[in-house]
Amino acid sequence: MKPRILVPIALTEEKLHFRLRRSYLDCVIAAGGLPVLVPVTLPLEDVRFLFEQSEGVLLVGGADVEPAYYGQPAHPTTYGIDPDRDRVEFALVRWAVETDKPLLGLCRGLQVLNVALGGTLIQDIPSHNPNALPHDAETLGQPRTALLHEITVEPHSQLATLLQQHRLAVNSLHHQAIDQLASSLVATAYADDGIIEAAEVPTCRFILGVQWHPEELAPTRADMHRLFTAFVSACARTH
Ligand code: MN
Repeated sequence: MKPRILVPIALTEEKLHFRLRRSYLDCVIAAGGLPVLVPVTLPLEDVRFLFEQSEGVLLVGGADVEPAYYGQPAHPTTYGIDPDRDRVEFALVRWAVETDKPLLGLCRGLQVLNVALGGTLIQDIPSHNPNALPHDAETLGQPRTALLHEITVEPHSQLATLLQQHRLAVNSLHHQAIDQLASSLVATAYADDGIIEAAEVPTCRFILGVQWHPEELAPTRADMHRLFTAFVSACARTH
């Protein structure tokens, strides 16, 4: 049986359609997983039912987390707050950690992982540090696959084991980032400007987030594809 991977799917801004980039599902399918879409409009008890029927959780990229969750007013650049999405994704993080069920967080997914576990975010990297590297390909008019900066991966981390390298170039499509790291997370990759690019829960088998978008690179890069196969393999070992 293929491991069932929950993927929350949020509404577009006009709240009439659900939207999810196909690249996320393509990567789960290519890695041998069975994606199960979870509309974020469901009540939590129904999300919990689906969670119990599944072997893993994928949190995908998107707009910003409600800053009230980490005790801050919204910065002028903070956009796209979706209370339903925050509610569902935060619950999934807590349940995954409590039950040691594999979870992979991508971009916003890493930020949700950190805030759900008690951390805070930098609400806008250029405002916070004008000397930071460029982290948002969209504002530069670059494609989603553009390798904007390099990262250094912490040795002995789960991420280093599965990427099989310590220095690599990644794409980057974010204006927010982890500020204060949640106490249950360890940072496992950094950009050269100090921005945290990955984190994991060392006490769990596979709860890991990355700040870049491996789903855009996986079709052409073995290391990024391995991120998904390692995740799906961890999910398959659940039962
Ligand atoms: Mn970046």
